[in-house]
Amino acid sequence: MGIGLYRILHVRMATTERDLYLILGVERTASDAEIKRAFRKLAQQWHPDVNTDPAAQERFKEINEAYQILSDPERRSRYDTFGRAGVDGGTGAGGFEGFGGFSDIFDAFFGGGAGAASARRGRPQPGADLRYDLRITFDEAVKGSEKEIEFSVLQPCETCHGSGAKEGTEPITCPQCNGRGEVRSVRQTMLGQMVNVSACPRCRGEGKVIESACETCRGDGRTERKRTLRVTIPAGIDEGHQIRLSNEGEVGPRGGPAGSLYVAVHVQPHASLVREGTELFYEAKVSIAQAALGTRITVPTVDGEEEVEIKPGTQPDTEIRLRGKGVPHLRRVGQRGDLHVLVDVVVPTKLSKKARELLAAYAEESGESVEHGGGGLLEKLGLG
Ligand code: ZN
Repeated sequence: MGIGLYRILHVRMATTERDLYLILGVERTASDAEIKRAFRKLAQQWHPDVNTDPAAQERFKEINEAYQILSDPERRSRYDTFGRAGVDGGTGAGGFEGFGGFSDIFDAFFGGGAGAASARRGRPQPGADLRYDLRITFDEAVKGSEKEIEFSVLQPCETCHGSGAKEGTEPITCPQCNGRGEVRSVRQTMLGQMVNVSACPRCRGEGKVIESACETCRGDGRTERKRTLRVTIPAGIDEGHQIRLSNEGEVGPRGGPAGSLYVAVHVQPHASLVREGTELFYEAKVSIAQAALGTRITVPTVDGEEEVEIKPGTQPDTEIRLRGKGVPHLRRVGQRGDLHVLVDVVVPTKLSKKARELLAAYAEESGESVEHGGGGLLEKLGLG
């Protein structure tokens, strides 16, 4: 957290419709650096904790609003095109109710600043998320399944029921922060007085401390134990998908809420089907004769083998599509992809003497010239 969370006190709201470039005293063509420089100068001059002029508050707010819009390239371009109407709803009227807007100011000056720590002060910290790598078969991914997984996870200590306090004792309110979980310190800066808010070091922001720690968990409130869970794998899940089970991760220390368990799914590839999303691909090899004369082949599908007709005169790279024989759609129930049969026509590399003679006769009949139709070379090479 470095410098911790900074806040400026005592800034009221006001509304304004003046030209933002005029407010910062820069040209409409000003660079980002010029805008930032102008803002810094004006902010130092008009900060209400520095400047006692009663108008300073409103002037400062106006300057800051202008800077918030003009320092953001997207909002600046909307402002240039549509005026205030294009950027209102952001830091425009009402944008200063929370302190959120101010963290941006300090990002500009100090680099970084307000962080997420403020969100969990005075409360126990949540536990970590866990990841479980689950290997399933191709079939289980396509059809869905139920899987039992076992893993070790930090769970509430059974001795102290998660409080971390010794048996018969209870955690007490932190005396350093009085249970708020945060401590404040005031400092003077070039912009005036600032309050630094950070997590209480005594109770680590939890607001409670333990006087004597539980002997089982040494005050952590958690112990690691084995856990078994049934996980439903939806039909259509794919390699790399994660199933999130909220509250099944680690519990936080001393009663903190549990994180999530992410089950990362890994799917074994199929022996002959290739999957891309909901589509399946199968490469079918047929011979020249089968392609020319037609045949029936057997294709593996997720629902068992299926006969597919190869029509006479089928060309290499022909695709035969078996509709609805792909993978079920994960979200659109009832929808399935297709199975694409890609026909590869294979030219034989080895021929028997008889086959070569027949093929030569076929070539002659078709009026095609062939090199070794009589069978000279292949035989000489011992390949016949
Ligand atoms: Zn315990």
